Amino acid sequence: MKGFTTKVLHTRYPKKDVHGSLRPPLYDSVAFEFDNASEIQQAFEGKLPAHTYSRISNPTVEDFETKMRVLTDSRGVIAVSSGMAAITNVILTLCSAGSNIVSSRHLFGNTISLFEKTLKDWGLEVRYADMSDPGSIESKIDEHTRALYLESITNPQLEVVDFSVVSGCAEKFGVPLVLDGTLTTPFLFRSRDYGVAVEVVSTTKYISGGATGVGGVIIDNGLFDWGQSPKVSPLSGQYGQFAFLAKLRREVFRNCGSCMAPHHAWLNTLGLETLALRVRQSSDNAMTIARFLAGQPEVKAVNYPGLPESKHHAAASVQFRGLFGGLVSFELEDRAQCFRFIDSLAIIRKATNLNDNKSLIIHPASTIFGEYTVEERLDMGIAENMLRLSAGIEDWEDLIDDIKQGLKNI
Ligand SMILES: *Cc1c(COP(=O)(O)O)cnc(C)c1O
Repeated sequence: MKGFTTKVLHTRYPKKDVHGSLRPPLYDSVAFEFDNASEIQQAFEGKLPAHTYSRISNPTVEDFETKMRVLTDSRGVIAVSSGMAAITNVILTLCSAGSNIVSSRHLFGNTISLFEKTLKDWGLEVRYADMSDPGSIESKIDEHTRALYLESITNPQLEVVDFSVVSGCAEKFGVPLVLDGTLTTPFLFRSRDYGVAVEVVSTTKYISGGATGVGGVIIDNGLFDWGQSPKVSPLSGQYGQFAFLAKLRREVFRNCGSCMAPHHAWLNTLGLETLALRVRQSSDNAMTIARFLAGQPEVKAVNYPGLPESKHHAAASVQFRGLFGGLVSFELEDRAQCFRFIDSLAIIRKATNLNDNKSLIIHPASTIFGEYTVEERLDMGIAENMLRLSAGIEDWEDLIDDIKQGLKNI
């Protein structure tokens, strides 16, 4: 089995279902029963592979994790309650007070807040580097650096860097490269092929199959020697190259209570079956919309890595599957025009999510990045006159008609 969707559909449930159910069963159960005391003891010691309690593991969640592992050819996957939980768990597993991480400046809004507020209070330092410049990255790394961190397509700036260059820097200093691959998903970008040690994905977006549930995954690509990570290496003796996953499952993930609900895992498994179809359709729609917007005099700038004039086109073309994802950002004259445009849309919905089946629009400066000052926003690449549109899977003609009438009303 080689193809993405064939793998999703034909990776079997780990145990044969008593009824031969083709759709994996949903075990919405907290606890699991054993035959005797010694079996429970063995399960707790990890000697008997069994589920004990669903905060730690669950058969339906395991099925989703297994499919994600097979799809990504990775060492292992842990499903968590949200994309933010995935990021938090990874940083807590790699860093202690006094550690630093070297990150791209262009990050998802809540990730900046996690780094700058929540984790700063616990002694984490975040150093920002220009991820397109190895000199900038290397000048920020020191003996306390525990990870390099970046996003596959930054949101909403839509930047794409050469990931091999960044992973080259990470390798040179023995630091794991952590990538937020939410906007590409493992369908568009095989992070393992570009030296990414750990990928986090918010399954809330494309994978959930249409905004059905909040969730996330942590993927250990199996490339990094965990003996090099001061916090993970003490587990290397017992768990070998599974030390990072063991540190999570047996400590950080378990203790933080970041588990994915079985129902969400079931929905995500269903979503995975159509992921490739939906990513293709939404990417095609985004391309059509970006081309259309680029020809409109009211539109001051269009940002989409699929456009040949985008400065990220070359990097995106090589590294992704010839598709560029569903997000387009563009600029009108000012904030007032952006608001009038949003208010006059009839099909495209006004909502903060992205990579839904429905097309969604938002004004980032007044919403997701509203807690920052104008100067801070400009530093993050969030202009006052920028709109972010997430193309869904509707018929493209209807989306273009909606945008046309929106532009008439600005
Ligand atoms: C949405 C998003 C997150 C956070 O995911 P949640 O599931 O909402 O917690 C993280 N990174 C990126 C790039 C996102 O788009």
